Order: sequence, then C-alpha cells, then structure tokens
Amino acid sequence: MEVQTIMVVGAGQMGSGIAQVCAMAGYDVILHDLKEEFIDRGMNIIRKNLQRQIQKGVLTEESIQQILNRIATSTDLQNAQKVDLVIEAAMENMDVKTTLFSQLDKIAPDHTILATNTSSLPITEIAAATNRPEKIIGMHFMNPVPVMKLVEIIRGLATGDEVYAAIHTITEKLNKIPVEVNDFPGFVSNRILMPMINEAVFTLYEGVATKEAIDEVMKLGMNHPMGPLTLADFIGLDTCLYIMETLHEGLGEDKYRPCPLLRKYVKAGWLGRKTGRGFYEYK
Ligand code: NAD
Repeated sequence: MEVQTIMVVGAGQMGSGIAQVCAMAGYDVILHDLKEEFIDRGMNIIRKNLQRQIQKGVLTEESIQQILNRIATSTDLQNAQKVDLVIEAAMENMDVKTTLFSQLDKIAPDHTILATNTSSLPITEIAAATNRPEKIIGMHFMNPVPVMKLVEIIRGLATGDEVYAAIHTITEKLNKIPVEVNDFPGFVSNRILMPMINEAVFTLYEGVATKEAIDEVMKLGMNHPMGPLTLADFIGLDTCLYIMETLHEGLGEDKYRPCPLLRKYVKAGWLGRKTGRGFYEYK
C-alpha cells in the first residue's frame, strides 16, 4: 500500500503536530479544519515548533521552508478525494467522529486508509459508520506529537492485516515507535493515565491538598516529569472529561466516574492551556 498524500483532519494541538511530523517525514499533507482561523492557529504552532529546531541547530531555514511547502490547507472535506491516508484528530466525541468517518468514506478513494487519533473511543464503532471497516484503524499519537515517541496502534474488529502493516511502517517512517494494543475503552495509555489524573482532581476537590502540593508530590515522589493537574491542563480538560466518560460508559464501573470538579471546570470553559485557564492560569 503506497501512501504519499495524507489528510489530517483537525488542526488543533494534536492535528498540527501530526501534520508537522508527516511533512518532516516527506509526505504531502493536507491540513483540514472547519474554519480558516483554526487552520491559521495550527500552522502558527507548526511554524513556532520548526523555528525552535533552528535555534537548536537541527533544521535550517531552507529545510523548514521545504517542510512547510509540503503542507497544503483545507476547509473543504472534498479534498479527501486526493489522499491515500486520512488521520482524524478532531474533538473526542463519538457523534463528531462517526459523522466525519461516514463523510470521508463517501469522499475518499477506495484504497484510502482512514485512521483516527482518538484517545479512548472504540475503533470498531467508528468503523461501523463506514462501508470500509477493513481500512479503519486507530493511530493514537502522544502529546506533544513532535517530541513523544509512542504511537498506540489499535485494530478494529475488521481491520485488515495489510492496513495494519502499512500503518506500522508509516509510524516508523515518522520516527515513532508503534505499539499494538487491543480495542478497549482508553486502550492502554488512557486506561491507566486518566484514572490517575481523575483521582488527582478528586484529591483537590476533597481538600486533601492544594493543586501545587498534589503536583509536587507526584513530581518529586514518583519522578513524574510533570504533576497530574499540570498534565491535565496540557492535555485539555474537555479531552480528559470525554475520556473519563468513555471509560465510565464503556467499562461500567463507578471507579471511572469523572470528578464533579472536572465537569465544573469544563462547563466554565476552563479547558487548560488552550483557553488560558484550567487548574492553573496561563499568559
Ligand atoms: P483540540 O481542541 O486542540 O483540536 C481539535 C480541532 O478539531 C479543533 O481545531 C477543531 O476546530 C477541529 N474540529 C472539530 N470538529 C471538526 C470537524 N467536524 N471537522 C474538522 N475539524 C474539526 O483537540 P486535540 O487535543 O488536538 O485533540 C484532538 C483529538 O486527539 C481528540 O480525539 C483527542 O482525544 C485526541 N488526543 C488528544 C491528546 C491530547 O493530549 N490533547 C492526546 C492524544 C490524542
């Protein structure tokens, strides 16, 4: 399966990073979102990331220009007609993803693989919204994409072996390490990480300690590079809540109940770094 052109759907923090690493690996990329302003925001993130590589002496101004030239932008999903692979990184909501996959299934050529960067939603259910379940696969990148090595690869019930092999190869070409996991809510990464973050929010909610103290304990005591509340702000509190809801609904146990404080912050629009305020405030 030859892949040369990749559409990334959603130009947020994950989509922009995915578009960047695909273009750096030599793929032609179409970065798609609902509005020009969202694309501009995503392209600015990419430009800033690449500029930092000049300061570190990894890239030159000329190579950055070549990478940027490989990224076209789109607000029209019909552009999926031109691509061999779609990597969807829109919001973590089953209705949004099934609607997108059903549209992409109608637009994209028959050979096109449709991958999703979902953090927790069942690949099999997303695949059922299409007439090509054998070409649907989970490709779960970690945040920040240009830095983190892992990509969890998740097969749906019907994912074809050749599709799995193609995605495995592409992941390695992106200079990442693929790890295959089964299709269960939250996969491996968020089955373990998100209940820990949710428990940190409960710890704050119940007044066990301040947010700073909770983060310090986990950083200094457990050697985590950042505390769980800082990490939640970095991931996005809306994404954290969606994932907890998926675990709660999909696994049916009370231990996955999202903390009411997490719900409250999301309702307030305090989504973390991306909105300037979450557990902490950001300038
Ligand atoms: P984000 O809010 O930063 O970006 C989402 C983008 O998708 C926005 O630009 C939005 O305009 C766009 N979008 C929404 N609906 C769309 C549609 N119908 N068509 C096209 N674009 C649409 O979110 P994010 O943090 O980049 O997360 C995106 C996906 O990646 C989610 O499924 C999330 O669970 C997953 N993910 C997130 C992280 C993380 O740490 N944030 C890590 C791994 C995976």
